[in-house]
Amino acid sequence: MRLIAGIELGGTKIVCGLGTAGGELVDRARIDTRRPAETLDDVDAALRQFGDAHGAFSTIGIGTFGPVHLDPESPDYGHIGMTPKVPWRGFDLLGHFTDRWKMPVALDTDVTAAAFGEARWGAAVGAASVVYITVGTGIGAGVLIDGTPVHGFMHPEVGHVRLPRAPGDDYPGACPYHGDCAEGMAAGPSIMARWGAPLSDLPDDHPAYVQTAHYLAHLVTIVLLFYAPQKVVMGGGVMTNGRLFGPVRRGVRELLQGYLAVPRVEEHIDTLIVAPGLGNDAGILGCVAMAADLRS
Ligand code: ZN
Repeated sequence: MRLIAGIELGGTKIVCGLGTAGGELVDRARIDTRRPAETLDDVDAALRQFGDAHGAFSTIGIGTFGPVHLDPESPDYGHIGMTPKVPWRGFDLLGHFTDRWKMPVALDTDVTAAAFGEARWGAAVGAASVVYITVGTGIGAGVLIDGTPVHGFMHPEVGHVRLPRAPGDDYPGACPYHGDCAEGMAAGPSIMARWGAPLSDLPDDHPAYVQTAHYLAHLVTIVLLFYAPQKVVMGGGVMTNGRLFGPVRRGVRELLQGYLAVPRVEEHIDTLIVAPGLGNDAGILGCVAMAADLRS
């Protein structure tokens, strides 16, 4: 059985996994994110341990926090960009793994990895074009069009568009770059700052749901109008309890006003805007999925 290593690199933790080409996760390890050298020593040790316990793997898939340079023509290809995590700025992530492991490595953003995972084994199986949106400590989106990730000069940063304010909302916004962009108004830190608790701790009828859904409905509407994906998968901590899906779907239909007059939107929006089929494993399984097709 062919084995594939996956590494989901987050700002606070890293999930390493060992998976099969059929999407089964046979082992995993969790590592705290610190400075690159010490963190990646631990990652390499975890991968060696996987090999010892289960047999050799032949390719590696990495989904990382951004920004990350993904243009193969760029001299910075595979390097982390201008992240607020200063020690990681400019770090040659792809180079580290290709040098150390001498095997093919697939690299993309964590959200693009999650989109791959959902498209292959999760809620978006059969959809050629998929947008995976995470709403957690930040907002990000991975965009697959006809199975290919949108990179352009870099990956899309959908979470930083500015959206119309919710009625009566005078919160300045939590994004260090833009203040009241989507991430600044609807990600976890903005909810915490306004209401003193994460959304999941607030009662069902709390106004935070209506307000957060306002921003996310606008964001998803933009995504539908721009990319026309067959599936929008929404994950991340803010989405976890599922209570936002109803108001977001209703909000999207209200905003569109019947303009995207297809049954997918008009009649089946509950199967267009969905929770991750792979739950919290969308990212790590997506890393495995990205590397499953690489030739070793
Ligand atoms: Zn922003």
